[in-house]
Amino acid sequence: MASKKYVYFFGEGKAEGRADMKTLLGGKGANLAEMVNLGIPVPPGFTITTEMCTIYYQTKGEYPPQLKVDVEKAVARIEKILGMGFGAPENPLLFSVRSGARSSMPGMMETVLNIGLTTKTIPGLIAKTNNPRFVYDAYRRLIMMYSDVVMEKAAGVEFEEGKAVRQQLEHEMERVKKAKGYKSDTDLTTEDLKALCEAFKAKVKEVLGKKFPDDPWQQLWGGIGAVFQSWNGRRAISYRRIEGIPDSWGTAVNVQAMVFGNMGDDSATGVAFTRNPATGEKIFFGEWLPNAQGEDVVAGTRTPKPINVIGKTDDTRHLDSLEESMPEAYVQLDRIEKTLEKHYRDMQDIEFTIQQKRLWMLQTRVGKRNGPAAVKMAVDMCREKLIAKAEAVGRVKPSQLDELLHPMVDPVGEKSAVALAKGLPAGPGGATGQVVFTADDAESQAKSGRKVILVRNETSPEDVHGMHAAQAILTAKGGMTSHAALVARGWGKCCIVGCGALDIDAVKKELRVSGRVLKEGDWITLNGTKGRVYQGQLKLAEPDLEHNEDYRALMKWADEIRELGIRTNADRPQDAAQARAFGAEGIGLTRTEHMFFDPQRIRAMREMIVAETVEARRAAVMKLLPFQKADFMGILEAMQGLPVTIRLLDPPLHEFVNLNEQQTRELSAELGVSYEKLAARIAALHELNPMLGHRGCRLGIAYPEITEMQARAIFEAAAELTKRGVKVMPEVMIPVVGIVAEFVNQEQIVRRVAADVMKETGVKFKYLVGTMIEIPRACIVADKIAERAEFFSFGTNDLTQTGFGFSRDDIAGFLPYYIEHKILPEDPFQTIDQEGIGPLIAMGVERGRRARPDLKIGICGEHGGDPASIEFCHRVGLNYVSCSPFRVPIARLAAAHAALKHPRKTATAKKAAPKKAKKIAKKATKPTARKTLKKAVKRAGKK
Ligand code: PEP
Ligand code: MG
Repeated sequence: MASKKYVYFFGEGKAEGRADMKTLLGGKGANLAEMVNLGIPVPPGFTITTEMCTIYYQTKGEYPPQLKVDVEKAVARIEKILGMGFGAPENPLLFSVRSGARSSMPGMMETVLNIGLTTKTIPGLIAKTNNPRFVYDAYRRLIMMYSDVVMEKAAGVEFEEGKAVRQQLEHEMERVKKAKGYKSDTDLTTEDLKALCEAFKAKVKEVLGKKFPDDPWQQLWGGIGAVFQSWNGRRAISYRRIEGIPDSWGTAVNVQAMVFGNMGDDSATGVAFTRNPATGEKIFFGEWLPNAQGEDVVAGTRTPKPINVIGKTDDTRHLDSLEESMPEAYVQLDRIEKTLEKHYRDMQDIEFTIQQKRLWMLQTRVGKRNGPAAVKMAVDMCREKLIAKAEAVGRVKPSQLDELLHPMVDPVGEKSAVALAKGLPAGPGGATGQVVFTADDAESQAKSGRKVILVRNETSPEDVHGMHAAQAILTAKGGMTSHAALVARGWGKCCIVGCGALDIDAVKKELRVSGRVLKEGDWITLNGTKGRVYQGQLKLAEPDLEHNEDYRALMKWADEIRELGIRTNADRPQDAAQARAFGAEGIGLTRTEHMFFDPQRIRAMREMIVAETVEARRAAVMKLLPFQKADFMGILEAMQGLPVTIRLLDPPLHEFVNLNEQQTRELSAELGVSYEKLAARIAALHELNPMLGHRGCRLGIAYPEITEMQARAIFEAAAELTKRGVKVMPEVMIPVVGIVAEFVNQEQIVRRVAADVMKETGVKFKYLVGTMIEIPRACIVADKIAERAEFFSFGTNDLTQTGFGFSRDDIAGFLPYYIEHKILPEDPFQTIDQEGIGPLIAMGVERGRRARPDLKIGICGEHGGDPASIEFCHRVGLNYVSCSPFRVPIARLAAAHAALKHPRKTATAKKAAPKKAKKIAKKATKPTARKTLKKAVKRAGKK
């Protein structure tokens, strides 16, 4: 039997690997092989497979004997190609040894360069290059890297802070520079470096108790082992945890002949992108440095130059480009980058070195890009017929659209700023403004033309006017579904919540953070996309979607692909109109309570709450009718016949009478009720757990006149608009239903009022009556509910709250800890917990459609705008997702991604859904669920 192949050679126009062998060769190795096969100049080398990494760990570093034979053969082949000798005194060959996992883990594993430099080969390299300074500099870099990576880290030696060998060697070098009065490393002379190499070796012996190896093969095997070992280094492990990369993948090792960009003025090095990664423009874009090594370009110790004339900016116009300085090499490089992009059908991020006029490619990989660039590149490439529409849609991450929708903190300025604090990124985009501590201050100062940021411990419906006036909102408490987060997202406003480091004193109007005191009027800047707070005014970049043809084309293609409908959560006509402009196909949730906090309305509401008789209550409620009717007319008209789901009143009543003593006295005078009586009534409304208390349909059941008034407002609005020839499609939604009889009770009122209004006005209109599914019990009795309800909308905020038994308003106290310690992988209020809450949804879908096969089902919790949750909704067969207006484009794209990933087999969602939902519902009770639980417990135990 032929033995397993562990070494894949590349060089001289032929490679044993290919780009599609990333699993075995890692990304870097596979792409190096591919470039060689494309006839691109790559220094010859070989890749040791990821399978060897697994063996390395299984055998604790014992390699199979075959590996030694194969590595030696490969080295001999490279020697032959280049006419050089590894360890040879004349024309010595040096190697780089680099890691390369299946997916890129930038900077997380180790690299050793210049392997093969020994006391025997140094003179040979000096003779060849005629550049002793270069050789001793290379040697001191080898000693530094090797002692650190191989002799210390890979050997498991640990030192206390400041005592590690690398730090001690750096210290040694600094000492020499200081003694000689040098500013930079480049001031060190040949003699300095020669002496430094000797000092380094002595230091290594002193610190690590071992001699620095002077044998090239010992160096090579040391380097290979250290790269394997670095797969389990601390950095690499934590990166894998964050990125979800399995430990079992392992890294490959790439051993490659060294080429030098620092061999004089005819040498150079650089990094480049086949298109501009910041704008997406189809312009070869990059930076280079003459007489330098790769790390000099990245490290920022020297200012890199633009690669070509077209890439010059006002700041770099005076610098000479590679195109001008080394025209031949540039023309060759440009040809190669074009070949690579065409071959990989995506923008490439490349590294190259020019050694004495000869160009070598060292790396190619798919380049990272920002949101606007991702959209432009995808659309351009489709138009260039490089990729198909579906591929273009799949290339842009939904989260990248965020950057197109909001002003952003200018990344250049942000790079050099230090964050004061970090919180949850509740409302994306950037904002800068002066700190205010109350909603009233926010409103009055904004009116006088100031840009303000409202900073509160948390917000409540009473702060809404100030929140609206502010550029952004920052709260110390609350999670992603807190009041501040919901409201801000609805308006597309920048918002950071749960920023625990803030110590706010709203009375003194100051806040303490990171040892500083900020007072009212001080400027801060928020990056709501990342959750970062900065002191001062950082520059912002404004979006412009209307003129972004690429964005519009991409979204059109996404709409052609997606199978989920996209609606929006909107409470005001202007929000509805905004959402329509973003492509919403209806309203999935109008929270009517947000309309109640206007001063005139809240007065009527309070009058209703304190009323003692049914008649008085009815009279007070009916005062709200004209307001509500006007609200609904605005929204129904804005949506022009698209469905509009209007939810009946939901919040606990006491939210409307959240008054201090002074306010209670004022209200008692206004209403003509004694203070004592009013105070007693307010006290009676107090609930220990209001979110699980007298709210949702429980309100309409206890106070049927509220439901009557709201139903009448909806239907009178519908009748009037219909009469005017405006198409309307209201859907009345009953909240917090857990018992069928609750639904029936409210449904009867709604249908009765509808019939009354039709009779009174003589106008017929269509409407539906459906329910929120947001209580686990509702999922279980979904079939019974669906016998009556015409649609379901999953309220996953409450379903998560009640499914977990986590109070939505109190999660800030423990959820960050849960995430940090991996008790939960993610915040279940941001992304659906597919393990525990998902099966409840699937059960609701399956049972609901069992009773009513054409049941329309959507989701209107915050998860409706989260790409992973949208994929889940697609899989379980929902008809639509509903999210805040500024998330509509993201949802459209995420729904298209879901459809590309999981095409629904049958033509309609309705048919596909029950089976799929049943499967997911069933899975929750299978042993796999227990296994996952066990794993979670184990994970938690380890911490
Ligand atoms: C929900 O519970 O998911 C929902 C949409 O309703 P609210 O957040 O208003 O309770
Ligand atoms: Mg709810």
